Amino acid sequence: MAYTYDDENIFAKILRGEIPNQTVLETDHSLAFRDIYPQAPTHVLVIPKGKYVCYDHFAQEATDAEILDYTRTIGEVCKMEGVADGGFRMIANAGEAGVQEVPHLHVHILAGRPLGRMLQKA
Ligand code: AMP
Repeated sequence: MAYTYDDENIFAKILRGEIPNQTVLETDHSLAFRDIYPQAPTHVLVIPKGKYVCYDHFAQEATDAEILDYTRTIGEVCKMEGVADGGFRMIANAGEAGVQEVPHLHVHILAGRPLGRMLQKA
């Protein structure tokens, strides 16, 4: 699939500094910030700074430096937020069936309460 990136998506605006965000961590290639509608006591979004629509787009086209930075940033956020202690979940929604609302790759890191089973029946 060929992905088309929408420069007007809300995370693109955050990256351009047009919309404020509650930054947790910023690196050369990645930004982690708190979700505006947290669904758990800890709810952090981690995005690459590059123009990638979703995870498979990123995995196929990002540079090694971007992939390394993104992976390490997720690890660092998990460490900073202490999510491993009580357990946590990472989610990367994609496309229509995945109900992705913002078409810029983001991993949700959720923790701080029991999160239930992985999927519910539709
Ligand atoms: P998804 O459904 O996986 O695309 O999730 C998009 C997430 O972005 C939702 O959890 C929203 O609450 C979150 N979100 C939308 N706008 C903002 C914003 N301006 N700052 C932080 N999080 C946002």
